[in-house]
Amino acid sequence: IAMYQAKKAGRNQCQFFSQGLQDALLLQTSMRQDLLKALDANQFRMYYQAQINAENSCLSGMEALLRWQHPTRGLLSPVSFLALAEETTLIIDIGSWVIREVCRQIHQWHQTGLLGSTPITIAINLSAMQVQQPELLAEIKNVLDEYNIPPASLELEITESALIDDVHSPASVLSELAECGIKLSLDDFGTGYSSMEHLKVFPITVLKIDRSFVSTIGEDAKGERLLIALINFAKSLGMKVVAEGVETNAQAIFCTAQGCDILQGYHYAKPIPAEQFEQLFLSRLMANS
Ligand code: C2E
Ligand code: MG
Ligand code: MG
Ligand code: MG
Repeated sequence: IAMYQAKKAGRNQCQFFSQGLQDALLLQTSMRQDLLKALDANQFRMYYQAQINAENSCLSGMEALLRWQHPTRGLLSPVSFLALAEETTLIIDIGSWVIREVCRQIHQWHQTGLLGSTPITIAINLSAMQVQQPELLAEIKNVLDEYNIPPASLELEITESALIDDVHSPASVLSELAECGIKLSLDDFGTGYSSMEHLKVFPITVLKIDRSFVSTIGEDAKGERLLIALINFAKSLGMKVVAEGVETNAQAIFCTAQGCDILQGYHYAKPIPAEQFEQLFLSRLMANS
């Protein structure tokens, strides 16, 4: 339609259209070149977002979230570069860096006594391409071994799009990870394909209900009923239920009353760097233990 309208509007309009396209392509090309250098230039950072036990309001764990400290564009969320990272397969190396960096951080927190004696889980997001790598299992096992981290404290978050590629089925890698005691969680549940087959085939024990359902609380009765149904569905399968994107006290109360096990969202904390996470959550943990 844009092309048709541009043609109809004459030469200037057409140039205007192609200028916009050219800008987008240039941006992509420069981002791609920047991304190629980002690992070596040490520009990736890990941020940590608290996960709260709904029953006692204590810290139950954290989700590690990737950031790119771009030299000129500032701190970038993966939303702005994940597609490019997948397309260039850089996500494999970036993903490996994430796993190692998070485990190194956990090890350091254990060493300095900051994690106390309470078991804290740490969630890492995996991309579809990573779970298609047969090497992933050995890689994770080795890093856990090296940093002396119990497999049961690690949670790997995958989205359903990672499960539907039946050409390179991730079933065996995921099953073996689960057999090691690592927990698998299904991220953004309710927004993707949500095939019941996935829950049957894959050893998923944690369900993260997407924040689009949580945000309907107090706003939209049908959305609320869907949220309740999803929570009950997960619980009847014996899964741990995490509510994502909890932004208000009312949402926290609602999710707790409906049986969510874990709450995560800006109401408690935004994703923050490790040092800030220590100050806000871990030093208190040490004082209490
Ligand atoms: P996700 O795994 O579903 O992570 C939750 C996203 O929601 C995060 O965005 C988080 O900052 C944001 N969030 C948390 N609480 C709230 C809230 O109360 N309100 C709102 N509006 N947002 C909230 P972020 O950090 O930008 O990450 C976006 C996505 O990028 C993640 O979604 C995940 O799919 C992906 N991602 C993040 N880190 C990694 C990584 O290390 N590897 C891979 N492959 N993907 C990652
Ligand atoms: Mg996640
Ligand atoms: Mg999510
Ligand atoms: Mg997401």
